[in-house]
Amino acid sequence: MTSTRIYLSSPHMSGLEQQYVKDAFDTNWIAPLGPHVNAFEQEFAELVGAKHAAALSSGTAAIHLALILAGVGAGDEVLVSSLTFSASVNPIVYVGAKPVLIDSEPSSWNLDPGLVIETIERKVREGKLPKAVLPVHLYGQSADMDPILDVCQRYEIPVIEDAAEALGASYKGRSPGTLGKAGIYSFNGNKIITTSSGGMLVSDDADFIAHARKLATQARDTAPHYQHSEIGYNYRMSNVLAGIGRGQLQVLEDRVLARRRNCAFYQQTIGDLPGIGFMPEASWGRHTRWLTVITVDPEQFGATREDIRLALEAENIEARPVWKPMHLQPVFAGCEYVGNEIAEMLFRDGLCLPSGSNLSITDLDRVANVIRMSGCRLS
Ligand SMILES: *Cc1c(COP(=O)(O)O)cnc(C)c1O
Repeated sequence: MTSTRIYLSSPHMSGLEQQYVKDAFDTNWIAPLGPHVNAFEQEFAELVGAKHAAALSSGTAAIHLALILAGVGAGDEVLVSSLTFSASVNPIVYVGAKPVLIDSEPSSWNLDPGLVIETIERKVREGKLPKAVLPVHLYGQSADMDPILDVCQRYEIPVIEDAAEALGASYKGRSPGTLGKAGIYSFNGNKIITTSSGGMLVSDDADFIAHARKLATQARDTAPHYQHSEIGYNYRMSNVLAGIGRGQLQVLEDRVLARRRNCAFYQQTIGDLPGIGFMPEASWGRHTRWLTVITVDPEQFGATREDIRLALEAENIEARPVWKPMHLQPVFAGCEYVGNEIAEMLFRDGLCLPSGSNLSITDLDRVANVIRMSGCRLS
């Protein structure tokens, strides 16, 4: 293989990050906390329109703390999207609760509000109210939150939004992640902006975030000695990484526009192929196209999504199937599942294409050409 590898979604630094990191070194504010952490939290909260934010070591850590703070514990049930990354669901198990896996709806591929309402009402009749609902905003697009917030409000169920993939997206003019009790974001290496690793927890509730910061630093009580009255975690973000985050935050809008341009390019170059569809952009807001995701109808296209993935791999291009739904995962086999096989179908036919904001037109052309060719094999 001679051509350079094209990745699904690789880090894209702007140059601004180094200034902040240099400042952290110059002032010897390396870890654990420091001025960049405070500034990053403030700047982030302002950008998404949340009142408060806590910078953490990962998005997974943020979900874990949000569940603890929402009072989710052993034996409780949490409604969560089945079509997602395992990191949305694992923390439910960390706190001893049971995930109830809910299917997607076709217009955004996110949590189906109809199924959420139906399930909550059934649980109410059975006398066991879910302790939280955890919608995931997949691939850069918000779930249809209003009907979900509505039913959760009626039964006073806290909503914790997993917006790890949806920073920069909108839902009726607001940021997904700021619509429920708490929201989480991720700055993992492949996300739309990255701090190499890291996450953010946001809420409009000052006490919620203050308590999250305490739990994230080993739950130290205010005392000159080390005193603890609850179990803590080591989940805080370091000052160096927060510096990277501040630089990345300044170019977020550019990154969204670049990723949307990638998607538009693919739509123009392969959108006419029979059997190729694109993840829809729902009417309620902006899809960042963190990843461009296509669906492949093998009958019409003449090849499956796996054929395309392998053809791309043979040309040193990384593509990945859509998330394998959690109710099909061996580790969650025992979990309750409510659905209509939408997630199954999306997993079967869906493929995530290279989508980084640093891809060139030449890169995108290479991808499009391989896809075009894989559909016209003579068999
Ligand atoms: C990346 C991701 C997470 C986890 O974030 P980390 O920062 O990697 O822990 C959670 N949920 C979803 C949907 C993600 O894509």
